[in-house]
Amino acid sequence: MDKYEALKTYFGYDSFRPGQEALVDAILQKKDAFGIMPTGAGKSLCYQVPALLLSGITLVVSPLISLMQDQVRALIAAGVPAAYFNSSLTLRQYRRALENAVHGQYKIIYVAPERLLTANFLDFTARVEISLVAVDEAHCVSQWGQDFRPSYLMIPTFLEKLPHRPPVAAFTATATEAVQKDVVSLLKLRAPVQVVTGFDRQNLFYEVRRPDRKKDELLHVLSSFSKTDSGIVYCATRSTVEEICSFLTEQGISAAPYHAGLPQETRSANQQAFLFDRVRVIVATNAFGMGIDKPDVRFVIHYNMPKDLESYYQEAGRAGRDGMPAQCILFYDARDLHLNRFFISVSHNQDDADAPLDEEAQERLRARDYARLSKMTGYCMTDGCLRHYILQYFGEESPLSCQNCGNCKRRGREKDMTVDAQKILSCVKRTGERFGTAIIAEVLHGSKTARLERMGLTRNRTYGLLKDLTIPEIRARIERLLVLGCLTRTDSDYPILQLGPHARGVLFENEKVFFYEERRRKRASREGANAQPAENGELFESLRALRAKIAKKQSVPAYVVFTDATLHALCERLPQTRQALLQVPGMGERKLARYGDAFLACIRAYCEKHPQPAAGSS
Ligand code: ADP
Ligand code: MG
Repeated sequence: MDKYEALKTYFGYDSFRPGQEALVDAILQKKDAFGIMPTGAGKSLCYQVPALLLSGITLVVSPLISLMQDQVRALIAAGVPAAYFNSSLTLRQYRRALENAVHGQYKIIYVAPERLLTANFLDFTARVEISLVAVDEAHCVSQWGQDFRPSYLMIPTFLEKLPHRPPVAAFTATATEAVQKDVVSLLKLRAPVQVVTGFDRQNLFYEVRRPDRKKDELLHVLSSFSKTDSGIVYCATRSTVEEICSFLTEQGISAAPYHAGLPQETRSANQQAFLFDRVRVIVATNAFGMGIDKPDVRFVIHYNMPKDLESYYQEAGRAGRDGMPAQCILFYDARDLHLNRFFISVSHNQDDADAPLDEEAQERLRARDYARLSKMTGYCMTDGCLRHYILQYFGEESPLSCQNCGNCKRRGREKDMTVDAQKILSCVKRTGERFGTAIIAEVLHGSKTARLERMGLTRNRTYGLLKDLTIPEIRARIERLLVLGCLTRTDSDYPILQLGPHARGVLFENEKVFFYEERRRKRASREGANAQPAENGELFESLRALRAKIAKKQSVPAYVVFTDATLHALCERLPQTRQALLQVPGMGERKLARYGDAFLACIRAYCEKHPQPAAGSS
């Protein structure tokens, strides 16, 4: 078998993705390798394909039990004999697994780093042929990364204890220079073949929204997805997680919480429920992280702004691993900025570090964090291309416009709102810069309320100046002026609007202001980025149902049977024979044998009901 056959037979793919083949080749030539590729690029295949071709066993060091379980489940479903050795096994199970491994029952073994230097494990590795050691999530070895694991530092010692040092392959999605250097030096890689692929994730649609009412906006966004699409809602604090999760549940949306304050059992139960599609939305703090390999996450919504773009890109990157369109939407609100500033101001204290930092070092770290926060805020404020903003931050060149982010989409659909802006600014001025958004909007709208009457505002010269606009429309324009710095909002219990540094230009110097009107979609419609071919939505749903039934019977998540990408390809190609079925991406031989007939029957039933035009006719 060669690498292409392995790719097709076990994983059902006809071609490698960018970067994969070079890494596979390096490993097959017994060289060390280091793959730096974004989330969802397909790093696992880079060691799994060689593992199938090499004569002995491949060990995969992985930081989390849930990651190992996920991967092993997927490998077994693809017909690859695989196992994991970690603390979820009882001693008895572990001994039996080791015994099986010595007898050559597994081609790929996932192992927790803590286990590498134990007597049992070393004894086992001395008795078998280890062809490759793959280190997944290799950034865990670096203190500069977000997920430092001291036990990763045992890996080089372990390698030295092996009778023969096999090739070592490391993989990470972390792009920073410091982490990359650490991986090579701390893991003692030997002249590794290094592959860095671009960090762009083309299937992800980025958007920043600045809603007045985040909860309403959240419901609105969720209603634009199909009821079966699942996703993550990230919140800044545990209490927001609880609040939003209850809110969604009250609104009839299936959701579960995840944060470090929950008991471990609850956390893993909720995570499992999400993986197995028993809940649709997971509402989480950033504690919900690395273990999430679910490929069909269709949206990642940040209910609050994260502290830096590193965190944002990593969290948002959990959407659309299957390569299908997915959306990453961030809700911005100036309060998130204040909260983050507060977090930074109390961070790096002596109290919470193992090794106390001196005052100067603390200041330096805080300054770095403030600078990162400011870049994050810039992302929320920019009118430019969001993808370009991110890629530029990570030092990658990219076009100035991507046509697949909120800002690129709205460009050209903006309206000149200079006159409205002047009216709003003069209202703020003529009411004495003493009121908040609600009252200013009411004055401009010309609302007849006792409150305005009492304060004499109904007699103000700006009363009713924008009577043709609704209150929400006026509010949206005020928000826009805040973003542009024409207005500022005081940071007090009762936030007051005042003229900002850019008000002058608009009022007196003929500067223009543009505004993009969000057109509310009344009913759930699937917008641009995650549009699906509507014609055979019915077939997709039947295939989905079939997949769910099989997954349930086998107690695996649905995506282990087939990913959405494979189901979409089935809908598009409508294969009628096993031969044709095998051509579909994601359909390996093992899966064809196990599920082929059931899926063919489903497709045939659909085609009988909806006769397709014969090829050649129109
Ligand atoms: P990473 O570890 O880089 O985040 P994974 O290894 O989890 O990514 O792979 C992400 C998804 O991409 C998986 O669903 C996998 O099946 C799919 N994939 C990997 N390689 C290919 C390929 N050559 N063609 C099509 N899909 C692929
Ligand atoms: Mg991975």
